[in-house]
This record gives sequence, C-alpha cells and structure tokens, in this order.
Amino acid sequence: MRVRAYRFRAYSSKTTARVLETQLEVACKLYNTLLHAEQEEYERNKHSMSRNDLRQLALDTRRQNPEFQVLYAQVAQQVADRFYEARQRFFDGLGNKPKVKKPYQYLSLVYPQHGWKLSNWREVGRGKNKKRRARLRLSKIGFFTLIIHRDLPLEQVSQVCVKLYPSGRIYVIFTVEEPETQEQTLDEPAKVVGVDLGIEKLATLSDGRYLENPKPLERSLERVKTIQRALSRKKFLSGNWFKSKRRLAKEYEHVKNLRRDLFFKLGVLLAKDYDVLVLEDLDVQGLIQKGVTRTRRMRLYDSSFLEIRALLEWEFRKRGKLVFPVPAYNTSRECFFCGRVNKDLTLADRVFVCPECGWTVDRDLNASLVLPKRAGWVPPAVPVELRPIPPLPTLGLVGRQGGALKQEAPPFRAG
Ligand SMILES: [Zn+2]
Repeated sequence: MRVRAYRFRAYSSKTTARVLETQLEVACKLYNTLLHAEQEEYERNKHSMSRNDLRQLALDTRRQNPEFQVLYAQVAQQVADRFYEARQRFFDGLGNKPKVKKPYQYLSLVYPQHGWKLSNWREVGRGKNKKRRARLRLSKIGFFTLIIHRDLPLEQVSQVCVKLYPSGRIYVIFTVEEPETQEQTLDEPAKVVGVDLGIEKLATLSDGRYLENPKPLERSLERVKTIQRALSRKKFLSGNWFKSKRRLAKEYEHVKNLRRDLFFKLGVLLAKDYDVLVLEDLDVQGLIQKGVTRTRRMRLYDSSFLEIRALLEWEFRKRGKLVFPVPAYNTSRECFFCGRVNKDLTLADRVFVCPECGWTVDRDLNASLVLPKRAGWVPPAVPVELRPIPPLPTLGLVGRQGGALKQEAPPFRAG
C-alpha cells in the first residue's frame, strides 16, 4: 500500500483557531510528559516502553489530569505514537534522540480513525474554478471550512491531521492509502532524460531544454531578504518582532508553494515524454568532495533540493516509471564526450570547454548529459541547441495579487 496525502486549506473562526493553539500546547506538554516517564522508566528498570505501554500511559495521564482532557482521546494516543516512532527512529539509527519539544515545534494534531466528520458539501466557483466546499468537524476542537480543490477518495481516508503553520494558516491533511502502481517493464528502448538542478537555470534537461528560475520566485526570495532584515532590527520577542516573524513565515510558505507548484508541473511534463528519469544523488560525502562551489550551490538550494527531487520522483513513480539516482560527483566537470574531468572549471564558467577533445557546450547541459551516461544510457552524441521551456501554465497566476508583481524588483543576486 502506498500512502498519499491530500492537503486543503482550512478556515476557522478566531475562537476555534485559539482552541487549536491551546490544544497544541497541551499535546506538546503530553509529549514531554511521556518523554520524561520513559526516561525514568529506563533509568530505573533499564527497559523501554512498548507502543502499547506508551499509549496506555497517555490515556491514563489524560484520565487523571483534567488539563489533558481537552484533547480527544485518540489524539492523545497518537501523541504517544509520535513519541514511540521518534524513539524507534533513534533506535534504528535514523534520527536523533527525542528531545523535549517546545510549543512552537509542536504544530499538528492527528485524528487516527474517528473524531472527524465532513458535512455541508457545496459547489463553489465557476467554470474552471469549480471546487467544493465542506465543513469539517473535529471533536473537541470545532468547525473548519475546507476548500476541496481536488477529488478526495473519502472512503479510503485513514487519518486526518490538522496543522498550524508558522504563518498562522491552518491546513487539514487527509491521508489516503491506495494500492501501489506496477512498475512498467521496459521491453522497448526506453526514453531517458537527465536533469541537472541549478540556480540560474532551475533545471536543465539532457534534451536541450531548460527551465529558467521564474521571476515570481526570484522576487519572493528578494522579499524574504527584506523582511529578514526588518526582523533583525525589531526588539526580540516584542509585538512587532512577532508581526515580522509571521510575515516572514508567510513569505517562506509562498516561496515554498511556488517551487512545489513549479516542480510538480515540470514532473508532469517530463513524465509524459520520458520513461526514465536520471537525477543526481546528492549525498553528504559527495558534497564534501565537491568542495566550495557545490557547497555554495547547496546553501542556496538548502533543504528544498531534496524536496524537488522527491517531487520529480513522485510524478514518475506514480506512473510506474523509473527513477535513477546516480552519484553526483563531478557531473558538472566531466566531459560528456570523452569523460575527462575538467578540474579548472569554476562556478563562473557558464560554458564547458574540454581541454582534451574540445567539446564545447553549455555547462549545465553537459552535466545533464553526463547523468544518463552514468546510469548506462547514452544520449544522442550531439545535443540540440539550448532552448527554454515555455512558461508552465499557471505560473503567471501565482504571484501576489495586484501591483506587487508589476513593480520593478531589484535583480536577483545569487549569493
Ligand atoms: Zn572531452
């Protein structure tokens, strides 16, 4: 079974939002209580509590302490599950030891089976904009209005999560379990594409197409910087500081949404044309070996790099197509034609010239050609000219409403 999440924006009254905030704080406290109980138990008896022990403990704590009774019982149980899973990850060597959580780190509640209900379905919007609106009742919290902008297989929902974002927005995430797609068997020669991710060109494809860093994204990044500066001038923890903090969180979410949207679309575009996607497998070791230039590149890309990869992969896997991560070491400095590594190439060189065979090509294109070669597919030897992918359908719409987009923004500087 594969898990798929459907996320919808949720709107609520101020009172309900405040109830949610209080409950998050309580859940956080419960989490920490469990953590301490587990630590004590371990010190005393050298024994780690099982999932059921922890669940029972959560329920008992809830029963004995009126403060915790504001939580729905299953939600309290799920807090225990969350701690159990964090601890399990630590035992398996996949994560750090669970630590005491601060309220701002605890931002979601999960209703595993019951305690939620959707009602009052209604059609809203016209034409292409047609969506459905529904009312969600979460036990012990209250009512939310959801805009259901895509089909939700309601019978298969296995859990519901309500999440408060740092910007103050609330989202509801439905988890749906669905059967795995069969991987396609590749009898006929597969169509392969290599994708190199970068900054100036967000993605360069081995067929010569590339995706430029879109303007709305650049401008958002610029705005992030401005707010960041404003925030640093505010008095720490003052009213204005919190205001800036929230504005910053909002801007970050905007950038994130933009990027997600863009890369989902790129994923769809690629998955339609190709059977196999070859990407750089970025591992820490590789990064260290690559030294300064790549580090700089990574810092700019930070965590979203992994996300972008995950999004592209998802679009391929969903269709039963293949994704090949290949070692990223030296992809941008290796000559596609003869395989020689051009050590003198710096980040400033936009064109790759091989000192050995004279192969001259755009640097990112060279990298995207090297990728499929490393995966065992040899793309056509002489690629077509670089040409931009025409703007993806809705990018024009995602900018801020009204004037903000039209204003002349200062040019984006990379670093
Ligand atoms: Zn060469």
